[in-house]
Amino acid sequence: MSGTPSRVFHRLPNEPMPTAVAGDGCYIIDAEGKRYLDASGGAAVSCLGHSHPAVRKTMHEQIDKLAFAYSGFFTTEPLEELADYLIDNAPDGLERVFFVSGGSEALESAIKIARQYFVEIGQKQRTKLIARRQSYHGNTLGALSLGGNMARRELYQPLLSENAHHIAPCYAYRHQHHDETEEEYGLRAANELEAKIIELGPDTVAAFACEPVVGATAGVVPAVPGYLKRIREICDKYGVLLIFDEVMCGMGRTGYLYACEEDGVAPDLLCIAKGLGAGYQPIGAMLVSGRICKAIDEGSGAFMHGHTYMGHTLASATAMTVQKVIRDDNLLENVRLRGEQLRAALQERFGNHHHVGDIRGRGLFVGIELVADRATKQTFDPKLGLHNKIRLKAMEEGLMCYPGAGTVDGRNGVHILLAPPFIIDESHIAEIVEKLDRTLTSVLAEAK
Ligand code: PLP
Repeated sequence: MSGTPSRVFHRLPNEPMPTAVAGDGCYIIDAEGKRYLDASGGAAVSCLGHSHPAVRKTMHEQIDKLAFAYSGFFTTEPLEELADYLIDNAPDGLERVFFVSGGSEALESAIKIARQYFVEIGQKQRTKLIARRQSYHGNTLGALSLGGNMARRELYQPLLSENAHHIAPCYAYRHQHHDETEEEYGLRAANELEAKIIELGPDTVAAFACEPVVGATAGVVPAVPGYLKRIREICDKYGVLLIFDEVMCGMGRTGYLYACEEDGVAPDLLCIAKGLGAGYQPIGAMLVSGRICKAIDEGSGAFMHGHTYMGHTLASATAMTVQKVIRDDNLLENVRLRGEQLRAALQERFGNHHHVGDIRGRGLFVGIELVADRATKQTFDPKLGLHNKIRLKAMEEGLMCYPGAGTVDGRNGVHILLAPPFIIDESHIAEIVEKLDRTLTSVLAEAK
């Protein structure tokens, strides 16, 4: 931090921040030479860590050839290669990729193409969208309308779409009854979608959107087994499109290239970003099912949407190399192995902690839910601002983690999200646990 006030419009202008100057594998280094272990990949982005040699090489080479060719005039080899790779490895039925610059743009695209699809096939009356409470789909107005994070929506409520409706999330720790199996709970939670579709009028609903593993709003909440399968059945029964938002949980984060592979369910539209370019370039994408492509091909012939930087040449070349490194270095295997080790280590250290309610996740996507009282699952008083204190204290310790305050049944729940780079080893896991322990001990002592 320099002494003069920053002219950057930082989101929290009153909060001083260190100046990052370099990256080194799993660490970021600030201007004072302090090293921060990146245990959250920023916001679940930096899946290859920082300054990866193969990615840097591609970026240099691509800039020397061509940085940007506007997608309204040209396609490029990196763009075609990346689309082929994503589709060759995608869940059944997804046939083409629409490239954008980030997660919110991917969700906006999904909302718009869902709408256009129904116009193309003569079902103009399908205008309603359903998503879930405690979800986050981005900050642009369409994506925010879809999202169920009340804190983020509140200020902009008058600008949000009245066509977006919400059901309960699949959140076993909070909502599964004691006398229910996970599968029974999953069915009950999914059936809320059917009830909502019937309430709204089945032929008026265009799409249902959800994160297969909820990220920032609830602290890594995976769907229970069977939930997404039932969701798919319900969407098919009523002709509703299914959108999976894998912006945070996709691209290998759970140990599978696409998180929904583990659930054995394929959506009609799949949104990705973050890990796609691993932070080396801003890039996102929407994978589109064959039937939607066909409706547009044989209908108007044009998707009425787009952005200047879509299909950016340098970004697609960079993302392709990121994906090749993940494939060639068997990093998905590392994600599964290190993910288990990380959860086991957290369980060992914090499993009996009186303020740790739940430790959960898939692969290197891990959530720790903090509670004021373990027995009753009572949340902390939001006035304590615990999540901010944890973030600041962890940074002091040299640890980047991603604490959040989701809305839990109308109250504020505090969680810590961990999403370290896929290249971590056992020493990094030990360092995460140590630094987190010191952070929690200090912050929770003051919370009393
Ligand atoms: N969807 C999910 C699940 C996300 O986690 C995020 C960002 O955190 C977004 C969408 C929005 O992505 P972006 O911030 O790149 O616009």
